[in-house]
Amino acid sequence: MEKTAKITFCGGTGSVTGANFLLEIDGKKILVDCGLTQGVKVADDINWDSFSYDPKEINILFVTHAHVDHLGRIPKLINEGFRGKIFSTLPTKGLALPMLEDTMSILSKNTDLGLEKIFTEENIKLTLSLWQGFEYHQKIQITENLEVYFLNAGHILGSAMVKFIYNGKKILFTGDLGNTPSPILPDTEKITDIDYLIMESVYGDRNHESRDDRRKFLEETIEDNYKRRGTLIIPTFSLERSQELLFELNALVENNRIPVMPIFLDSPLAIRLTEVFKQFKNYFNENAQRAMSHDKHLFDFPGLHSTLKSEESRMIRNVPNPKIVIAGSGMSTGGRVVHHERHYLPDPNNTLLLTGYQAAGSPGRLIQEGIKTVRITGEDVIIRAHLVTITGYSGHKDSDGLLSFVEDTQDTLKKVFVVMGEPKSAMFLTQKLRDNLGIEAYAPEQGTSITLAC
Ligand SMILES: [Zn+2]
Repeated sequence: MEKTAKITFCGGTGSVTGANFLLEIDGKKILVDCGLTQGVKVADDINWDSFSYDPKEINILFVTHAHVDHLGRIPKLINEGFRGKIFSTLPTKGLALPMLEDTMSILSKNTDLGLEKIFTEENIKLTLSLWQGFEYHQKIQITENLEVYFLNAGHILGSAMVKFIYNGKKILFTGDLGNTPSPILPDTEKITDIDYLIMESVYGDRNHESRDDRRKFLEETIEDNYKRRGTLIIPTFSLERSQELLFELNALVENNRIPVMPIFLDSPLAIRLTEVFKQFKNYFNENAQRAMSHDKHLFDFPGLHSTLKSEESRMIRNVPNPKIVIAGSGMSTGGRVVHHERHYLPDPNNTLLLTGYQAAGSPGRLIQEGIKTVRITGEDVIIRAHLVTITGYSGHKDSDGLLSFVEDTQDTLKKVFVVMGEPKSAMFLTQKLRDNLGIEAYAPEQGTSITLAC
């Protein structure tokens, strides 16, 4: 009988977030990722819709990495009867608990949606009891004919591509692909032998500035702000970007590249995640390993204050300028950064530095696009502060990076499915793959199923 694999695009199409793919293969029902849909809100209402499959029938869930848009709906999956296995790399497993607990605490403030029923301590405990961590390249034998491997995606600590080998055919889900070279992480692994590719396209239609310049831009931004005696606000994703920034600031401070001033890490989640990073130092790249040989504390330096408690966060205002505040959330949709923005954005001596992805409609995106007044925590805030965007720190490959990633396996590829991007971005990349590489590429719509010959 002819062997096939069926993929259903349950989420993560037409959107950067909400990754959720169902793979039916060799009699198994397997999910890749089970993420929250986010955007203007931390969690869109659609997250509480039913799954398009029966969670009880799922055998295994593979988690590509610990971002909430890839794992945030697992407690709901558990709540609806999923009792299969959860597989990821070891660091992803280590990062999952703080990420899920943080999501729970944010969502529990939204009691009008009845979210507390899904995100209970019990659900999270059960989630972790089903979870098993693996090394990169460790063989995971699912059936006699089906084996799976995690390959390094270089996106965040522990991030992986998931490679299924069934009957000799290779199917690869990229998860999110890192903007190699990263300050801390190893490069995205080259792939050369893939038949079917399901790939992200967050920056499918845009390129970043040179990565070599990013530390220089950061240094200049800090110096300019210092000269104006302002506060530099950096809205930052707690996972990876915060640790990367600490790593970069550590290098700038230790090498006397920037003047000494108070630097606040004002994010309880980032503080907690940084501790997990310290446990997985052996997953860092050579550059970071080398730096560690003469500076044991890569994420700690003179002037750094980690403000865990909210009283400490409020006290930051009393600290004289110039100073730097790193706080979440990265798109200014919530978290402590919004309080700092409300306070500091109206003053032209201050600086707002954006280093990460800003989803369409988010306050961060509106500010980036040059809006003069932004509504933050129910209040209109006039923006007079300096605005700086450094795209070189993006955690995602840019358009050219995605193309050359695919190019490496061009000769073996049969089909590419472009997902996890806004429609414009996914369509642009799909067209580029067709035009530049002559590859059969599609941007599937949500709910579509396709059957692949294996
Ligand atoms: Zn991600």
